[in-house]
Amino acid sequence: MNNDSFFTEIWTPEGSAFSLEIEEKLHEEQSEFQKIEIYRTRHWGNLMVLDGCYMVTDRDNFLYHEMMTHPVLFTHTNPRKVVVIGGGDCGALKEVLKHPNVTEAWQVEIDERVTRLSEQYFPDLCSSNSDPRAHFYFGDGIQWIKDAEPGSIDIIIVDSTDPVGPAEGLFNKAFFETCLRALGDNGILVQQSESPLFHSQTIIRDMIAEMRQAGFCHFQTLPFPQPIYPSGWWSCTMASKNVSVNEFRYDHAQEKVFATHYYNADLHRGAMALPEFMKRDLEQ
Ligand code: SAM
Repeated sequence: MNNDSFFTEIWTPEGSAFSLEIEEKLHEEQSEFQKIEIYRTRHWGNLMVLDGCYMVTDRDNFLYHEMMTHPVLFTHTNPRKVVVIGGGDCGALKEVLKHPNVTEAWQVEIDERVTRLSEQYFPDLCSSNSDPRAHFYFGDGIQWIKDAEPGSIDIIIVDSTDPVGPAEGLFNKAFFETCLRALGDNGILVQQSESPLFHSQTIIRDMIAEMRQAGFCHFQTLPFPQPIYPSGWWSCTMASKNVSVNEFRYDHAQEKVFATHYYNADLHRGAMALPEFMKRDLEQ
């Protein structure tokens, strides 16, 4: 095995790493916000790396994008206006737009270069970008949510990078307070919440505490597989003030009018069954 032909992301705090075999570096640039690299891999399609961290591959992104979107969209009673904070690769936006009741979907991404490069190198993820319901704003999601009309949004999806750099402020009480103000009465927030194995006692637990302090009352963390992220296991966490987030429109999910690769109604139900250590750590 020739190690030079592999890209490796090393997770120093956990003493682990993940590698993909690379055929060609397709692009590299330093944007205003981060270093963006795009590779063609031998078996995983194209790969995007931000500041040395794997973001998406063609092969496995459906796991993350479907679980960041469909559970929350089938939990809300009638999601019409949905906002994705981050998510510049457009994969979450594409899944949101599969729901016919959505009338307006915003992607609020700080780094326009991530979206422009995704259009070029991940055309499938961007295939719904010309949907008339899709809207794009390139700027800071923290400020955008602060400026949003109170009660105007049904679902906020935080599809961010790890809680460092520009994404750090997407994980604290001040941000969650502004989310709560921007959400309607039945509104739901869902946040990418890192690795169940590595972060249940740190990032996930602290994030839920900040959400609680901000006024959210109901929580549900959903673990799911994600091979390219640290530990190969990832999660999202739903939060709402008024509505339960561990019940969902099962019948609608079962009879969904669109295709998915991973998500279905029974899988959604199963994903809510947390392992013992997470129940203990999160006390949901
Ligand atoms: N699926 C990925 C993960 O969990 O690692 C996240 C993918 S998505 C490409 C993350 C995006 O969040 C990046 O493109 C980054 O530019 C964006 N982002 C980070 N902080 C942001 C902020 N404050 N406002 C808007 N977008 C932000």
